[in-house]
Amino acid sequence: MIPFLDLKGINTHYRTELIEACTRVIDSGWYIQGNECKEFEKEFAQYCGTKYAIGVANGLDALILILRAYKELGVMKDGDEVIVPSNTYIASILAISQNNLVPVLVEPDNNTYLIDSTKIEEKITSKTKAILPVHLYGQTCEMDKINEIAKKYNLKVIEDSAQSHGAYFKDKRSGNLGDASGFSFYPGKNLGALGDGGAVTTNDEELANAIKALGNYGSHKKYENLYKGINSRLDEIQAAMLRVKLKYLDNEVEKRREIANYYLQNIKNDKLILPTVREQNNHVWHLFVIRITKRDKLQKYLLDNSIQTLIHYPIPPHKQNAYKEWNKESYPISGQIHNEVLSLPIFGIQSIGNTKNIVQVINEYR
Ligand SMILES: *Cc1c(COP(=O)(O)O)cnc(C)c1O
Repeated sequence: MIPFLDLKGINTHYRTELIEACTRVIDSGWYIQGNECKEFEKEFAQYCGTKYAIGVANGLDALILILRAYKELGVMKDGDEVIVPSNTYIASILAISQNNLVPVLVEPDNNTYLIDSTKIEEKITSKTKAILPVHLYGQTCEMDKINEIAKKYNLKVIEDSAQSHGAYFKDKRSGNLGDASGFSFYPGKNLGALGDGGAVTTNDEELANAIKALGNYGSHKKYENLYKGINSRLDEIQAAMLRVKLKYLDNEVEKRREIANYYLQNIKNDKLILPTVREQNNHVWHLFVIRITKRDKLQKYLLDNSIQTLIHYPIPPHKQNAYKEWNKESYPISGQIHNEVLSLPIFGIQSIGNTKNIVQVINEYR
C-alpha cells in the first residue's frame, strides 16, 4: 500500500536529532515555558519574517487567542463579524464562534479553492471587524487584494497559516501577510510536532503581549492576572522537536514541490482537474488536491490499486451539525468542491517510484 502520509518515516529520518533534543529537555528539568520554547519562538519569528512568534498549545488555540486578544484590546466585541471562507477546515470557523463573534462565510474561487477576494466587499457590514483568509492546501490567498479591502474598511487581517508554513506571497511569507497569523504544528502539517503545538506570529507588540498573557491564565507575572485567560502553551518537548524540524522545513517544501511538479506535468487524464497554481513560491503543497465528478469511484479505484487517498474535506462547514443554523443556506461552489476533491499522497520522503506509480495508475483510469 502506498500511504497517504508516512509520519513514522518522516520522523525516523530525524530520529537521532529528535532524541538528542528530547534528552536535552529531560535533563534540563524544565518542561514548560523554558528555553526551548523561547528559542523556537525566536527561530520561527525569524523564519516567517515577523517581530514576534508566541508558542501556544495548538492551531485552533492560536486563532482563538488572536481574536480573544483583539477583544481584550477593545478592537472587537461580542456579536461583531469576521469574514471567513466557506470551504475550510472547521477550526478556522470555530475560533470565531468560540469568541462570541459571528462567522460570515464567503465562497471560494472555483479554481484555487481560496477565498474569492471579489466577493468579500458585498459581505462587509458595520459590524465587520476582520477578514480571516485561509491559505488552504498550502497556497497563499490574494493578500494584496485582501489587505487593500481591509485597509479601506479598517478591518484586521488574521491569516490561518495552519497549512502554509513557509509559503510566500510576493516577497513575504505566510505569517507575515496580515495583522496576525495562526499556525498549527499538528503532526501531519508541513512543520509537525510529535504531538500538539501551535503558534501566533505578528508584528504588533501590544497584540503579542496580550496573547502571551492570555495563553498563560491571563498572566505575565505569576499570580497576577490581567485577563481571564486560558492555559495554552507550547511545551518544552514539542518546542525542542520543532526546533529540529524547522531547520529542514525548506527542504521538505522543496521535495513536495518536486512531487507536485511531477504530478502536474505527468498526470494526463481528462476526467480530472489538476490544481491551479498562481505562482510556485506561493504554494508549499501541504495537500495535492485533484477534482473529479465521480470522486468516490476514483478513490475506490486507487485503493484497489494500493494507493491511499484522503478527502479534505467531505462535509462543508455549513452542512455540519455543529452549525445547524446554516444547514439550509446555499454555498454552491463550496458544496461542489467538497463533493469532488481528492488528495493524493505527497510528503518529502515519498519515493519517486511511488510517485510514478501513482501517476501511471491515475492515467490508466477510465
Ligand atoms: C489543522 C488546521 C487547523 C487547526 O490546527 P490544530 O493544531 O489541529 O488545532 C486550523 N486551520 C486549518 C486550515 C487547519 O488545517
